[in-house]
This record gives sequence, structure tokens and C-alpha cells, in this order.
Amino acid sequence: MLKSFNIPRAHNLLGGKWVAADAEIDVIDPSTNRVIFSIARGRAADIDAAVKAAQMSLDGDWGAMTALERGRILTKVGVAVLRHTEDLAKIEAMDVGKPLSQARSDAVALARYMEFYGGAADKITGETIPYLDGYTVYTLREPHGVTGHIVPWNYPMQIVGRSVGAALAMGNACILKPAEEACLTALAFAAIAQEAGLPAGALNVVTGLGAEAGAALSSHPDIKHISFTGSVRTGQMIQAAAAKNVIPVTLELGGKSPQLVFEDADLDRALPFLVNAGIQNAGQTCSASSRILVQKGVYHKVCAQMSEAYSKLNVGAAIDDLSVGPLISARQKQIVTDFIHRGSNLKIAAQGNIVSEQDGFYVRPTLFKDVPWSHPLARDEIFGPVQVIIPFETEAEAVKIANSTDYGLVASIWTKDGGRQMRLAKKLKSGQVFINNYGAGGGVELPFGGVGKSGHGREKGFEALYGFSSLKTVAAWHG
Ligand code: NAD
Repeated sequence: MLKSFNIPRAHNLLGGKWVAADAEIDVIDPSTNRVIFSIARGRAADIDAAVKAAQMSLDGDWGAMTALERGRILTKVGVAVLRHTEDLAKIEAMDVGKPLSQARSDAVALARYMEFYGGAADKITGETIPYLDGYTVYTLREPHGVTGHIVPWNYPMQIVGRSVGAALAMGNACILKPAEEACLTALAFAAIAQEAGLPAGALNVVTGLGAEAGAALSSHPDIKHISFTGSVRTGQMIQAAAAKNVIPVTLELGGKSPQLVFEDADLDRALPFLVNAGIQNAGQTCSASSRILVQKGVYHKVCAQMSEAYSKLNVGAAIDDLSVGPLISARQKQIVTDFIHRGSNLKIAAQGNIVSEQDGFYVRPTLFKDVPWSHPLARDEIFGPVQVIIPFETEAEAVKIANSTDYGLVASIWTKDGGRQMRLAKKLKSGQVFINNYGAGGGVELPFGGVGKSGHGREKGFEALYGFSSLKTVAAWHG
């Protein structure tokens, strides 16, 4: 499949050309634990070459384009991505172990990001500001210049789409550093974009380790903005590096997102959202809902319904397209297994079943009930198919529990009471609040990002375009 995109082993894409690296990293299929390809182990010199290539494109064809022309190219890229949906989905399934239909949705979302930002490129305007007599004052939105994009392994296509799509729409030139565990669709996407007409150097891809290529990118003196999605720990390092160069940074970090289920909720509608938001992508979703808070009157019913759903979950190879695939790596499997062991003093309500006989990184989805809200399983991000159910009695108690972690990414409220919907939407500490639904990972059009340790800055929607540009105020005196 990689042959269909002409992607050579262990090469970076710099200034429109595939350039061989002097070292490589094995790519492992998480469903089988077998090596399937190798990627470049890019280092500081490759990042430097990428920054120069990006700057050249800004000084050349890419920088000279109008917003309309940029938008047309992005729209063409979106159409080309859609045409390659099946190939991209198969590559992603092999590379990160994502069940095929979930990988297919990610490819479609990548296309949608290109279409959305293609259409938005020429819709961002400045304003005129009333000022002193004899003046006309207006604002201009300008690209930052060369931007860095450091992406994790859990939703490679979606996160590349939202980050690079918005940055290109505003006229920046991008250096993309995908996660070392998940580079193949980023490379394929860059090849597709080039084929669809994106000028050389507008998008450069350097693969490699976080501590090498990632650190070199975030500390490079000629990078003017960093968009980072990943763990809190790495986010702190990136923010420190950005502070040295005094550049803006968008941090999309982790979460411990709650769903609050009240006694008057439509439980039939809620049930699939409660479960899917925890097990989608094997729970490796920043906006996974890993805490289910349930009011006493319906507590036993919700526990029973969720338990039944869990006992029917089958875990297997990505290509078999079951509800849950493997985790990304042996390391992630160990982290999640350790968390499940930390819950040995808790009640397991139900577990799913591993049906694959292959040597992949499989973990049984696990549902805990009657969990005290101060327990580590109810506070720490697990990043695996594990959910906890926590009982509550009053609305005030539900809000207190929901707001009790360091995170604030997504929350949802299940109730028919309109007043409660409005009250809680204001009281919950969260970047997004859903009412009678839950949107883990979705919503190209919806501004997304966190509060607290979930990060700062917003991606997706029009809001991202403001982050990927800077505002210039022009004050003209004309008497
Ligand atoms: P990670 O922080 O280890 O890695 C993310 C990226 O950062 C990778 O590309 C990695 O190579 C790079 N990196 C690592 N060390 C670096 C360094 N010193 N300097 C520069 N770059 C470095 O995170 P992960 O384990 O890949 O992803 C899981 C985490 O990401 C979870 O905490 C999850 O919640 C979070 N996440 C958040 C969102 C969101 O939108 N908020 C989305 C997906 C994942």
C-alpha cells in the first residue's frame, strides 16, 4: 500500500523531495507485533533542513498565493484524500492497530478538514476600529511563518488534518513531526497533498523520536508557532522551549472526561454513547469518557446495561474490524494493565473478551463500578479501554466530582431538565460540553481544546485560524 504512494523507507519529505536519513526506526504492527516497514530517524540537521525548505516556500510560490488560491489547493487535497480513503484506512489499521472502520472514519475526517479549511481560507477578515478624529484604523490577519506540528499516535490523520489544515489555510509553511509509533499516514498524506498541487516546502515531514526530532523542532529559533498534541509532560517541555524563543504554542493535552447521567435521562439514547466514548480507539482518545457519574435512582440500571455491553465487546486484530483493536505498543499495554491492577481493591462490573490468537498488544476492556471519586482510576488518565462508574446523589455533588480532576477537556450532561442543562454547561470546567450526546474526537467544525492540564489554545473550527495567525493593527492618520 505504501508503494501506491511511492513512499521510500526511512526518508523524510523536505522541500518536496524524499531525502534519505542516516538512521531508521522499525515500524511495528500492534495487531501482530511484527515489523512491517521502517521510517527515518530524523534529527536536528533534518529539522534544520526542513525549516529552510519551509522558509523558501514562504519566500516563493506558497507565500505569493492569495487566500483563495490556498483554499482551492486545500480543497483539492481533500478530494484526493477522499479518493484514497481505503488505502489510508488500511495503512492506519496496520500502523496503529485501529479497527478498519474507525481508521476509515479518520481518513474521511482528514479529507473533511482539508475541505473545511479550504473553504475557510478566504473567509477570515480583519476589522475597522473607530478611533480618533482624522484616523482610519484596521486590522490584518497574517501568517506566523514557519510553524511546527508535533502529533501523537492515537488519531494521526485527524490531528494532522486539524493542525496542518488550519495552518496552511492561513498561509503558514509547516514542519510536521508525527509520533514515532504512527508516521505512515502522515507520510502518505504529504505525498497526496503534493500530488494534488501543494507547492514544495509548504508541508515538510520529519519523522523520528520525540527527544531528538521533536525537541529540535520545538526549540528551533526560526519556528514561529508550535502546535502540540500529546501528554502533559511533553507539553510542559514544549512550552518551556517555546518560552525561550518567545513564540505562541497550542497545547492539546490529556483528559479524564466525565459523563453525568441524571435520573430523568433518556437511558436508551445514552447507553451507546456511555460505552463507545470509553472504548473507541481502545480508549486511547484524549477526549475519551473514562468517568461515568450516575445518579442513585438509575445507578443499578446503568451499571447493568453497561456491564452487558462490555461483556459483548470483542478485541482483535485491526483488520478484523471488531469493536476494540490492540493498544499501540507493548509499553502502552503495560501502562494500562498496571492501572487495571491498581483497581484490584475495586469491583469489576464486567470485562470484554480477547478473541485474537495473535501476539498483539491486546487488553480486555474493563468496567469498574462503585468507584470512589478520589481513587487514582477515577482521577488519572489511563489511555486504554477502562471506564469507572461513580455514584452521586445531588446535582451539586455531580458538579463537584466532575470538576475534581486536574483536567478539563470534554464533559456531557444527560438530562431532560432544560434548566439543569444550562446551569451545568456553565459550571463544568471543560473546553467542550455536550448535552444529551458525546463527541469523542469528532466535530471538524467545533472549536476544541482544554482548560487546566488539558492544555490551552483551540484547534478545529474557525477558531483555529485565529491561533495560526497574528493580528496586525494599522492606524492611518489622514487628517
Ligand atoms: P507524547 O507526549 O509522548 O508524544 C506526543 C508527540 O510528542 C510525539 O510526536 C512525540 O514524538 C513527541 N515528543 C515526545 N517527547 C518530546 C520532546 N521532548 N520534545 C518534543 N516532542 C516530543 O504523547 P503520546 O504518548 O504520543 O500521546 C498520548 C497523550 O496525548 C495522552 O496524554 C493524550 O491524552 C494526549 N492526547 C491529547 C489530544 C488532545 O487533542 N487534547 C489528542 C491526542 C492525544
